[in-house]
Amino acid sequence: MEVRINHSKLELKEGDITEADTEAVVNAANRSLLGGGGVDGAIHRVGGPEILEECRKLGGCETGDAKITTGGNLKAKCVIHTVGPVYQGGGKGEAELLASCYRRSLDAARENGIKSVSFPSISTGAYRYPMEEAAKIALRTVTDYLKKHQEVELVRFVLYGKSAYDTYSQALAALTENT
Ligand code: ADP
Repeated sequence: MEVRINHSKLELKEGDITEADTEAVVNAANRSLLGGGGVDGAIHRVGGPEILEECRKLGGCETGDAKITTGGNLKAKCVIHTVGPVYQGGGKGEAELLASCYRRSLDAARENGIKSVSFPSISTGAYRYPMEEAAKIALRTVTDYLKKHQEVELVRFVLYGKSAYDTYSQALAALTENT
């Protein structure tokens, strides 16, 4: 599924983010930036040790923020590491922190002249954010960002499994109907 937002394209795809051919891929990292499971484990496994070496020099990352490194052996030339919130019921500012992850990642892309970015569904694995809620926040935040900023030409969500893809597709359909 894809939609146009001003001069940019927003795409949903089912797949594995380590195979993405966009200039940057976003990692659902943790605050240490020293590796973990899920997307993080997969990116370091496929991207190789060069990514971790750069991460070690960054001194971690706050929840809601993003930092960039090389893509190592990935097809993508850069990895943007962002730290999603752990879902604790929704009353701890999780929605704003999750939105911030998408904005700060796109800021990092723009600052580095990157025109295409793939995102996973941040916080919806080990950090337990409900997928439907997370999808709405992710898509609304990226859509709003692309309306304001023209530099990033392609944002792709790479969703792991059919159920994640379907949830994002429904959320995107609802969002575009209402705008
Ligand atoms: P978090 O700690 O932010 O929750 P996870 O990596 O545990 O991050 O999970 C985030 C989402 O990414 C989950 O929905 C999970 O199913 C999905 N995911 C896991 N591995 C991959 C992958 N290789 N490519 C794309 N998405 C993935």
